Amino acid sequence: MPAKKMLLVVCDGLSDRPVKEFDRKTPLQAAKKPAMDALARHGISGTMDVIGHGIIPGSDTAHLALFGYDPHKVYTGRGPIEAAGAGIALQPGDVAFRCNFATVDGRMKVIDRRAGRIKHGTGELAAAISGMEISGVQVIFKEGSEHRGVLVLRGKGLDHRVTDVDPHAEEKIHTSKALCPQGKKTAEVVNEFVKRSSAILRKHPVNVQRVKEGLPPANAILPRGPGSIKELEPLSERYGLKCAAVAGVTLVKGICRLVGMEVPDVPGATGGLDTDYRAKGEAALRLLATNDFVFLNVKAGDVAGHDGDFRNKVRVVESIDMMLGLILKDIHEDVVVAITCDHSTPVSVREHSADPVPLSISGGGARIDGVKEFDEISCAAGALGRIRGMDLMPIMLGMADRAKKFGA
Ligand code: ZN
Ligand code: ZN
Repeated sequence: MPAKKMLLVVCDGLSDRPVKEFDRKTPLQAAKKPAMDALARHGISGTMDVIGHGIIPGSDTAHLALFGYDPHKVYTGRGPIEAAGAGIALQPGDVAFRCNFATVDGRMKVIDRRAGRIKHGTGELAAAISGMEISGVQVIFKEGSEHRGVLVLRGKGLDHRVTDVDPHAEEKIHTSKALCPQGKKTAEVVNEFVKRSSAILRKHPVNVQRVKEGLPPANAILPRGPGSIKELEPLSERYGLKCAAVAGVTLVKGICRLVGMEVPDVPGATGGLDTDYRAKGEAALRLLATNDFVFLNVKAGDVAGHDGDFRNKVRVVESIDMMLGLILKDIHEDVVVAITCDHSTPVSVREHSADPVPLSISGGGARIDGVKEFDEISCAAGALGRIRGMDLMPIMLGMADRAKKFGA
């Protein structure tokens, strides 16, 4: 059997719980979604505990599991994933932090953790504090969207097991402390960086101008979420797949890059509610022509879940369905297509939850069960049963005739 192509569509946080005010339906149950339902009807369905029973997944750990990596073994914090998403090529031994540009007073008390959600000038500020050397450690700093940034420390003897500088509240910034003897040098370097960078930022023309305009200056950096990168075996080697991804948010892009996927920028793919669904679908189709495995993430469902907005979430379902319809119309039935979520973000919780997510797979060697609709309840009756996120890739590989024989 010739090996078949694979497409994995992950609707970030789209999975939900029944909502009383809406007939005890979930947004997936309430929406019109002919393409998703067709996929379920022509394929096999189930539900999935993305990490494990009763574990609330983060988007980062969830995606690692969906790609077949054990997040308990490979995940050390969000910093490295953000750094990869920002386009910094991390090396083993680097320690990366997520950061905020913040406003502090003369005694380093935080007045605004986001420096008034600063939008302009962070590139210049980042350039002014990137490149310094502290105790033989190279400092790389790159701005992210709005008040966000990434700090990477590169040098000998570093360890990610240190505490956050970010106090996560409007109080005096914290001194980073080592959580084990190996973290001592890293904590010292981070603390020195925070001091030196603040001195530079306070005098920077961007901030002088902000103060003049009555805006809070971005005069301090608050590092948090330290992590170091374990070398991840790329998907190409792990499964022998040439692969690419379509994603809008930095965090998901970062994971895709860490596992060796090509992640082209898609104009209009914002990672928000205003994302260009059509552009994403078309990009996935284009990539499918030259790759064995294409991954497509749509973030908007998670955003609506965090907003607690049922109606908006229903609209997101219908927009994703339009995108999926466009894709399905164009691909051969030999392509193994899976649709699922990385976790639930119920509108009633406004946060991620441990509830399992629905999953449908069609095409290739997928069997066809009796499930006719794609939602949390219908899929639970499917022939796949209840699986773990880490099982998804092996199952898809089997249906795509890419599994390896074990034994004679
Ligand atoms: Zn997510
Ligand atoms: Zn979320």
